[in-house]
Order: sequence, then C-alpha cells, then structure tokens
Amino acid sequence: MTTLLVKNAHVLVTMDDGRREIPGGGLFARDGAIEQVGPSEDLPSQADRVVDASGLLVLPGLVNTHHHFYQTLTRAVPGAQDAPLFDWLRCLYPIWANLDPDSVRVATTLALLELAKSGCTTAFDHQYLWPNGSRVDDQVEGAAPVGIRFHASRGSMSLSEKDGGLPPDSVVQGHDTIIEDTARVIDAFHDPSPGSMLQIAVSPCSPFTVTEELMRDSASLARERGVRLHTHLAETKDEERFTLERFEKRPVDYAADLGWLGADVWFAHAVFVANDEISRMADAGTGVAHCPTSNMRLASGIAPVAAYRAARVPVGLGVDGSASNDSSNLLAEARQAMLLGRLAVAPGIGEGEPMPARTALEIATRGGAEVLGRSDIGALESGRMADFFTLDLARVEFSGTIHDPVAAAVMCSTVPARDVFVGGEVVIEEYHHRSIDEGALVENHNRAASALLG
Ligand SMILES: [Zn+2]
Repeated sequence: MTTLLVKNAHVLVTMDDGRREIPGGGLFARDGAIEQVGPSEDLPSQADRVVDASGLLVLPGLVNTHHHFYQTLTRAVPGAQDAPLFDWLRCLYPIWANLDPDSVRVATTLALLELAKSGCTTAFDHQYLWPNGSRVDDQVEGAAPVGIRFHASRGSMSLSEKDGGLPPDSVVQGHDTIIEDTARVIDAFHDPSPGSMLQIAVSPCSPFTVTEELMRDSASLARERGVRLHTHLAETKDEERFTLERFEKRPVDYAADLGWLGADVWFAHAVFVANDEISRMADAGTGVAHCPTSNMRLASGIAPVAAYRAARVPVGLGVDGSASNDSSNLLAEARQAMLLGRLAVAPGIGEGEPMPARTALEIATRGGAEVLGRSDIGALESGRMADFFTLDLARVEFSGTIHDPVAAAVMCSTVPARDVFVGGEVVIEEYHHRSIDEGALVENHNRAASALLG
C-alpha cells in the first residue's frame, strides 16, 4: 500500500460531473487510485509521498485519441510540407517503407515523452504499416520506459495501387497475415482491467487503403475479443469523393454497412459528415478523435465539433501524426481546438457559439477518456486513477492571469507540464523525466530519421 497526498494547489480542476474547480485543493490516492478530492484541509494530513502544489494549477492528465508515432521521424519533410492529404501520403509512403523495429521503437519512446511533457497521461497510437519486420511488440518495448498509459493499435493497409487504393505495394500486407497478427497482438498485450497501462485497438487505416473484406473481418475480430475499433474517416473532400465513386456511399454509410458503427468505434477526423450522419453516430455512441492542427496543416477542413457535442457524440482530442502536425503537444492541441472552434463560427464560415477554453480542456480530458472507453481516467475524482499534471503559474506566460488561471492554461502560450503523475507515480518532476536521458534519445531519434530519409 502506498499513498500520495497532493495539497495546496492554487486551483485543482476536477473535470468531475459538477466540473468543480477547487481553490487550495488537493487529492489523496492509495495504490494509484484517488480516494478523496477536496480542499486540502479536508484531506488526510499524512501520506508516503506528499506534493505541495502551492502556486501550481493541477489538472487531470490529458488523453490523446489519435497519433502516428512513427511520423515523428518524418516531420517537416520538404516534399510534404505544403501538400494536401493524398499527395502528402504519396510523398511519404516510400520513406515510411524503410521503417524497421529499431526506428519504430525509438519513435514510440520519443512521441510518448513529447506527449507526457505536454501533460498527456494516456495516448493512443494508430500505426498501420509494419515494414521490415516491425511489430506492435516494438512499440510496447519503446513505450515502457516513458510510463504513461499506452493504447496501441494493430493497424493495417491491404488495398494498394494495383487494386485501386492509394499506397504502393511495399507498405501493404495480405488479409490473412493482418488478421492473424492482430489476434496475436490482442492476446499478448491487451489488458482491459481498471488502471490498465496497455490496451490494443483494431485499426485498419482508411477507406482508401483497406479492402471492405478486411474492414468487416476486423470488426468481427475486435468484437470477438472485446477490443475497440478505430479508423480514419471523412477526413478530406478527396476521401468523400473516393467513397462516393468507389462504393457509391457517403463515408459514414460505408462504415455502417461494414459493421463500423457502435459504442466500441471511434473515427479520426470525421470532418465531412452530413447532419444525418452525425445522428447515426450519436445513436450508435460512435466517437470522434478531433485533430484540429492536422486539419489545418493539410488544409482539410473544419470538423463540426459543436454539432457533435450537441448530439452527444463523444469527442476527444488527437494531435494526429507528427508528419501533419508536426508536434505531439496535447495542451497546444487543446488551444488549437478552441481557436478553430471560434473560426468555425466566424462570418462566412459558420454559425453558433465560440468554443470556451474550458470546453477545449474537457474534450482533452474526460472527452478523450470516453472516446477510448475508459471510466477510470479523464477526471480527478474518487475511484479514478491519480493521473494529473501541474502547470507553474509563476511563469511569465501566465503573468496577469491570476483571476482565471484555468482558462489561461488554454488561452495563453502553451507551456510544458512541470510535473506529471500517472497512477500516483511520478513520471516527470520539475520538467525532468524520471529515467529517460532526453539528449541521448533525441540523438538516437535523429539518427533513425536520417537513415529513413536516406
Ligand atoms: Zn491520422
């Protein structure tokens, strides 16, 4: 039994059902799970570890619902800097074909560390190509030293150029190989228990890279094993055109007809959806990973986040892959969500209310937890895991915001998390990771990136 007491926070943001924000607040946790949250004077006075959070904002750990860690090796690649999605992919596929177990491992460590430094305590990664013998196992190995919760995917691509898909033959796999390895990975790694550090989702890449048969069989396998389903959907106008021409269906109808609507499904992006598609998703409980930076970076479009939330579609936040962001900063992504949520209602673009800072924070925390199907994270309240991060309000970036530091966390310049705890265990303390040598990691990662680009 180990106990943790956090006390005297300038403000502790709970994100509980009442959205309580507690001045002078704190929490008491035992064996990684929160037992009490409240004013510091109401909490036990002793614990194995005591954290004095005076002058700090304490927030629930952020939850990332969409990423491609391997793309940290191909950020800002010249030929892909200004291209829309399909051309961007055509430029990058041949580079990604050179990935191997070592580069997948180092990219996973780097991306998760970068996320952790921004306050992220749970991250999903959508890896859908496995060249040169790379496997989910390499990602599991790469994730372990970072210490945040990892939702990996056994992603896939099976529809190459010769069959009318977008990717070259070198990065797709056969249907049976994919299904067999997906089953192996779920059996080897998926842990559904409360407080789980590692889960697996079944994640074919997108309508233009995967056969209908693989979409169908992936859904059957996921439901047989009780894991979640994820794919890219309705990201761009080009994709909408592709599904209309090839399948004579809109993207959500295409997904629904293959068994891809349900409370165990979430889509990345979901930008180009009609109102009736939003209703279908809401009725099914299908969630969305909103990726505002990527949608702007690739000039894709603006996802109808306000309409999703009004219809009670679960919405989480994703930084998306680092070749279309090109950062893994989830707090910065919350800021982007807020800003894009305002541009979305500007004259000539749309109508409605501008997104408040607290809504962006909610999407980044409890929204993401809901999208990943986790009731044990996403808020600081009794019964959930002690996953949280702190921001230092004495920094120049926050000066002048003492009247509302919670809004300032999103509205002001994005600053790194000062401390990060996962399950009551320290991951980052005073800006330093507990065990990773950041300089050596960056050196290894740069070496892998150079080898990849040739
Ligand atoms: Zn993506």
